[in-house]
Amino acid sequence: MAIDNSVESLAKALKSTKHAVVLTGAGISTESGLPDFRSQSGLWKGVDPARVASLTALHRTPIEFYQFYRHRLARLAGAQPNPAHFALAALQRAGIIKVIITQNIDGLHQAAGATDVIECHGNLREAACLDCRVIFPADLLDREVNDLKDVPRCPNCGGTVKPNVILFEEPLPREAFDRAWDEARRSDLFLVVGSSLEVGPVNMLPQVALQGGARLAICNLSSTGIDPLAEWVITEKAGVALPALAGAVGVEI
Ligand code: NAD
Ligand code: ZN
Repeated sequence: MAIDNSVESLAKALKSTKHAVVLTGAGISTESGLPDFRSQSGLWKGVDPARVASLTALHRTPIEFYQFYRHRLARLAGAQPNPAHFALAALQRAGIIKVIITQNIDGLHQAAGATDVIECHGNLREAACLDCRVIFPADLLDREVNDLKDVPRCPNCGGTVKPNVILFEEPLPREAFDRAWDEARRSDLFLVVGSSLEVGPVNMLPQVALQGGARLAICNLSSTGIDPLAEWVITEKAGVALPALAGAVGVEI
């Protein structure tokens, strides 16, 4: 299949869809100043993610674990949605895009006004108790952790509280992922934005969409393993490509 790089042709196809679905990854938020995982300057450069953002790390090296998350929370506090988030929100408001599935934990789609967002990897707004599973606001985590006695404890049961994000070694939230799967299968056009598609099981969703008969579009700065199956591969910054797409569809941001 020939790869069509034109935003205009994608816009034309989008206008005739009934159930367009978007999947976003960390790349859509780099222009908001939040580093992604796998780019040259990404968050994990020189750090093994499984070492700091895993359940094992939380239990074995909790101080390092909470320091890492405090740093992420602090960065997030100043982050604002960028034109890519606003363009998707506008396309959703206009009914062109039905749902946004995201691997991001930054909440920037909602901050831009998107309403139906499926968060497959949790979010940084909340903290969750590992024992009783009660959810708290994330400010419970917003303090210095200097020794084991400082580790955030659950006000409800005294258990360990962690950010409400999916750590390595944890399963995805069942309800969110089931819905993401259904939406991918129902979609007639599936657009991936800013994801290396290296993290499972979310990276199966484009295939699920294709098997359900969807047309596939990818907007990412680097190539992904599924590019050969896509009808559109747009190698452009999301903050440039998505506003252009919204414009070509005739949707005001
Ligand atoms: P990833 O880092 O593996 O891939 C990001 C991709 O985005 C790369 O292929 C890169 O080329 C591309 N990219 C970077 N800037 C871009 C831009 N401006 N426009 C278009 N493309 C751009 O990210 P992923 O696939 O989402 O990896 C999954 C994991 O990353 C998830 O578990 C997610 O929770 C986590 N994560 C989230 C955030 C966040 O919430 N902002 C930040 C870092 C990591
Ligand atoms: Zn508890």
